[in-house]
Amino acid sequence: MIYLDHNATTPVLPEVVEAMLPYFKEEWGNPSSSYRFGSKLKTVIEVARAQVAELIGASPGEVMFTSCATESNNAAISAALGAAPGKRHIVTSAVEHSSVLTYCSAMEKRGYRATYLPVDREGLLRTADLENAVTDDTALVSLMWTNNETGGLFPIAEIAEICRSRGVLFHCDGVQPVGKAEVNVRQVGVDYASLAGHKFGAPKGIGALYVRRKAPFSPMLLGGHQERGRRGGTECVPLIVGMGKAAGLARLRLPQYDSNVRPLRDTLEEGILSTIPIAELNGHKSQRLPNTSSITFHGVDSEALLVLLDKEGICASSGSACLADSDEPSHVVRAMKPDSAASRQTIRFSLGTENDADQVDATLAGLAKVVRMLDA
Ligand code: PLP
Repeated sequence: MIYLDHNATTPVLPEVVEAMLPYFKEEWGNPSSSYRFGSKLKTVIEVARAQVAELIGASPGEVMFTSCATESNNAAISAALGAAPGKRHIVTSAVEHSSVLTYCSAMEKRGYRATYLPVDREGLLRTADLENAVTDDTALVSLMWTNNETGGLFPIAEIAEICRSRGVLFHCDGVQPVGKAEVNVRQVGVDYASLAGHKFGAPKGIGALYVRRKAPFSPMLLGGHQERGRRGGTECVPLIVGMGKAAGLARLRLPQYDSNVRPLRDTLEEGILSTIPIAELNGHKSQRLPNTSSITFHGVDSEALLVLLDKEGICASSGSACLADSDEPSHVVRAMKPDSAASRQTIRFSLGTENDADQVDATLAGLAKVVRMLDA
């Protein structure tokens, strides 16, 4: 198998599995218990919290664990809207992940107004559009750090500055850049940022939400006092340990990530674009993550292409994994190129550190073969 879908999920790192195992096998207590067998696990959770905080430039007290980034995104938007009951407007973009878009459209049904900022043909956002969209009625701006389909970077520091100057809370879906590029929430000045452990070597089922110390927060999951009263529910200690371990490894390995992955991505991309005439790159050439390549194969149905690639042992996707089972075209590519069929003819390749040059060569050969079959 050649796995080129790291923006969907990443393999669980062996060191992470090792770190988690004792908390499945021997240390299975409840951290809220009064006796030591359980309560000692509180310290374990705090170590993991500090590891995640360090990776994103936050204080440990500003990080809460969640079950996934979908929960983090929902919880942040819910908290921000709850903090400004008189305001009924949300600004987001047309290319956000479904966990933001679906939540915003649910809020529209409850009487909120949402503005979905457009992007240009390269997937870039114009900050002037944001400035024009924010009004006195705006409770929250929710914009992603980098796009999951194209890897495109939004001007996150500028966006944060606009929100600050207009007195509007800013939530950032920071799922994709973590572990692939520098993420410093304090430097940028976001109020909330969502993370998913499984995008950087932890298992699925664990996420985190950064909540800036002075940002308002009210829990979405009401129950016990876990997570300092910000999220009821007994903590899943093994997964929290796993996310902490993965965060520590991501921090150590970040300096090499770009030089390991970018050349492979570039070789793959240049190989495709130079040998397959119907191929066209989506997104900005440089303002994007070093691992992602979104390519339209004009005239070729992306789902048919993915099935044949799978037969060649190559895993890629046509967009977000969360929408892969729907028949919908990519809303990201559609927002970039509304006048073309590209949203049904696009494949996302997202590489990771365990890929190598042989796999890139094999992908180029496999791709040339299946495109020839479909383009005949
Ligand atoms: N936000 C972005 C940008 C993502 O890519 C994803 C996952 O694909 C999510 C949010 C949701 O993550 P999860 O499925 O872990 O809830």
